[in-house]
Amino acid sequence: MTSEITLDGPASPEPPVLEPVPLNDLSRGLAADKHDILTLVERVVDSGWLVQGPEHTAFESELASFLGVEHVLGVASGTDALELVLRAAMPADRSVVVTAANCGGYTTTAARRGGFQLRYADVDAATHLLTAETLAPVLDADVGVVVVTHLYGRAAEVAAIRTLCAPLGILVVEDCAQALGARTDAGRVGSLADAAAFSFYPTKNLGAIGDGGAISTGSATIAQAVRELRQYGWHGKYTIGRDGGRNSRLDELQAAVLRLRLPRLDAGNARRRSIISAYAAAASERLQVLTAEGPNHTGHLGVVVTDDRRALQDHLTSHGIRTDVHYPIPDHLQPAINAEHTDVALPVTERLAQQILSVPVFPELSDAEVARVCDALGRF
Ligand SMILES: *Cc1c(COP(=O)(O)O)cnc(C)c1O
Repeated sequence: MTSEITLDGPASPEPPVLEPVPLNDLSRGLAADKHDILTLVERVVDSGWLVQGPEHTAFESELASFLGVEHVLGVASGTDALELVLRAAMPADRSVVVTAANCGGYTTTAARRGGFQLRYADVDAATHLLTAETLAPVLDADVGVVVVTHLYGRAAEVAAIRTLCAPLGILVVEDCAQALGARTDAGRVGSLADAAAFSFYPTKNLGAIGDGGAISTGSATIAQAVRELRQYGWHGKYTIGRDGGRNSRLDELQAAVLRLRLPRLDAGNARRRSIISAYAAAASERLQVLTAEGPNHTGHLGVVVTDDRRALQDHLTSHGIRTDVHYPIPDHLQPAINAEHTDVALPVTERLAQQILSVPVFPELSDAEVARVCDALGRF
């Protein structure tokens, strides 16, 4: 190879420095969609509708038919979706929400905003998800709703959980923020329980260009309650028929972006799964990569389990690979609320929080970047 001659002297003999592999990079998807997004901005501006107009109505019905549910209601965020669905679904004589403590605290935040008490169940050591077995010990007559999060994109076994909860009068809500598009034999997640919550935060598999969320349900009663709660508690215009309402709306621009991207969701999820499968095949025997194989997984996050997370994180950093932990602090140990949960012990949740590490997974990762992550995982 001949070295280039520059005015500053001979070219450096160092190999070119590779850019780090990012954990996520929204600019790639935005660049690919830029033309379509600018076109829809024009369409929305020309329509004169900014909130709860034709894009919003169309998105609600398109998502409902994608999911196979009767009702979808747009709201302003995933956390709002959880709060409003909890308030709509909670039986009148009950006040406890049961959920997992390893899902980032969103249900905890929403339930506390709704004025409910929280109780945590441990998770299955293999899937990191709630199961009927982990839930059974914490259910009693005070529990009104169980929130099951399809964590990392893997569909939880909702049918078994409903079989456990139904005789106890407990409703089941799915948190689908990481799992939109996951499909089980019984249907898409979001159609499997009494109701479900979704987030369209930009890093989710179906991302808006700002905040957004939605609720799905087959129950006309829950749908009507959410419809009122998301808009001041109005029964009809300027008539407050339901106390405790607020303002939580999905705007026309976000709805239009989501309509653009929904038809591409399944392809993006398939790409995510194939990236995770490549990592699992390449990883050293010291590592366990949580698999994301069938259509019941959206590959939202690629998670590696190891007894030596610090060493793995340092190793990947030295290979130019960005990582993060989802999530480092279980809900019952969060500093603002841990005083209320001093009697709670969740051994599996607490152990996994020390062992998990997320590696880069998003559809626009290049094959060369995937190969770099595979190589580094293999060398650990
Ligand atoms: C992102 C997320 C939420 C919250 O969604 P926001 O739109 O950020 O409020 C809720 N649950 C899970 C599992 C999430 O990943």
